[in-house]
Amino acid sequence: MSYLLRDLDPGFVPAASPEPPEDALLFAFRKGSLVHRDDPFSLPTVAEARAAGLPLEALTPLGKVGGRAAAFAALPDDALLTPPLVTSNLRRLFFSLEGPLLHAAALAAQLAHFETTSRFCGACARPLSRKIGERAKRCDACDREIYPPVSPCTIVLVHRGDEILLARASRLPPGMFALVAGFVEPGETLEACVQREVAEEVGLEVADLRYVASQPWPFPSQLMVGFFARAVGGELRADPSEIEEARWFGLRELPMIPPPFSVARFLIDTYLEERGVTPPR
Ligand SMILES: [Zn+2]
Repeated sequence: MSYLLRDLDPGFVPAASPEPPEDALLFAFRKGSLVHRDDPFSLPTVAEARAAGLPLEALTPLGKVGGRAAAFAALPDDALLTPPLVTSNLRRLFFSLEGPLLHAAALAAQLAHFETTSRFCGACARPLSRKIGERAKRCDACDREIYPPVSPCTIVLVHRGDEILLARASRLPPGMFALVAGFVEPGETLEACVQREVAEEVGLEVADLRYVASQPWPFPSQLMVGFFARAVGGELRADPSEIEEARWFGLRELPMIPPPFSVARFLIDTYLEERGVTPPR
């Protein structure tokens, strides 16, 4: 079983330099979607993308994918694509890409989001320029450097022995239950965030927090930090503004749960394995 974004795949080595060569694999995003060829999936090289007329003005190094140089470019919204080039959004690619390609695409998606949301300085409103050799931008007028944002979120598997708490947020596919999760607030520790989110969303008190795993989640730029926590008090009641339903499930009676590439699934499978229960396939 593979958890594609949890451990960095050795086939993908991120790097912010040197400048990518013309035969680099190109991860180009237009309006949040990756440019590629279909059936089978393949990426154009920088040279092929130029030959197809794509405007590659801000070409940046991404690192190495399977030993091969890779580059990232953010295309203007009105960039014209001609067959066989198409675009797919990252959620679809999560179901079809694996390993190094998915890691690189996930990083490229975060950079694409940074490109489209960091065109101007937030202090003086002048255009930002790219900082060569780093994933950053500069405002020469205020001498400020701006780095891609990463937003920490906690995600927690709440347990009480042979039962785990699963919650259904309304945005999930019908029938799917997942874990309690939420953004870390300013001034908050990860542990305090876990305790607050569990109390707010399902009304429970938890203790014995244990860090398990983390996962970059490029929708658009979260870092999911996964914990186990033991329920020690409170009364189960779902906050209707966030959760449709929250229930305790026996370890052998789980409903539909998130897919294997997610840290939610990794937390669930890890807990089952620690209790001697084989995870669902
Ligand atoms: Zn400025």
